[in-house]
Amino acid sequence: MTRNILVVEKILSANDRIAAENRAIFDASGIKAFNLMASPGAGKTSLIEQTIKRLLPTLNLAVIDGDIATNIDADRAAAAGAIAVQINTGGECHLDAIMINSALKQMNLQDIEVIIVENVGNLVCPASFQLGTHKSVLIASIPEGDDKPYKYPGMYRGVDALVINKIDLLPYVPFNMEYFRKGVEILNPGLETFPLSCKTGEGLDSWIQWIKIHAQA
Ligand code: MG
Ligand code: ZN
Repeated sequence: MTRNILVVEKILSANDRIAAENRAIFDASGIKAFNLMASPGAGKTSLIEQTIKRLLPTLNLAVIDGDIATNIDADRAAAAGAIAVQINTGGECHLDAIMINSALKQMNLQDIEVIIVENVGNLVCPASFQLGTHKSVLIASIPEGDDKPYKYPGMYRGVDALVINKIDLLPYVPFNMEYFRKGVEILNPGLETFPLSCKTGEGLDSWIQWIKIHAQA
């Protein structure tokens, strides 16, 4: 038992060292980086598409897409006009700092102002692996249910912003916003939260404002 804990701690501290290296690379290139995490189907790629559409004229944006097997999400980001790099994790259920480090080596960082990392869809281990990004964002969505902060506290505790996607579905699925927000508030008091719909566009402006503020900070 103790031995297993030691092994895990060793892996995480090695990861943290590379994450610090990634942060230094971002900072030296004047890049602000955002780590987007969520369960599968919460709308990470849709939010990235909408964000690219609204930011591209003014900010040079690149996407690093983590996926277990396919290029579908990176292709969507590229189709929306961003520089897109795909990381196939080969079955691994999260991105780690080494994967980001090797992606950065394939990119011409001089031309980039913002990097959005789309993590692997998973509400557990992405929270444990620092990538070196400046801000972590969690995307929740209405169909997932209002109990997720209670079930996945680690994910809600460590993030800098929370997007609540698919609010257009509120009339159709049971979701108690008050109960959900109470769970979030216990874990991460005062967390900046953006209820929105990538489908209707409602609420997207405040999210874009937040990205812009932190992209230029
Ligand atoms: Mg996706
Ligand atoms: Zn994992």
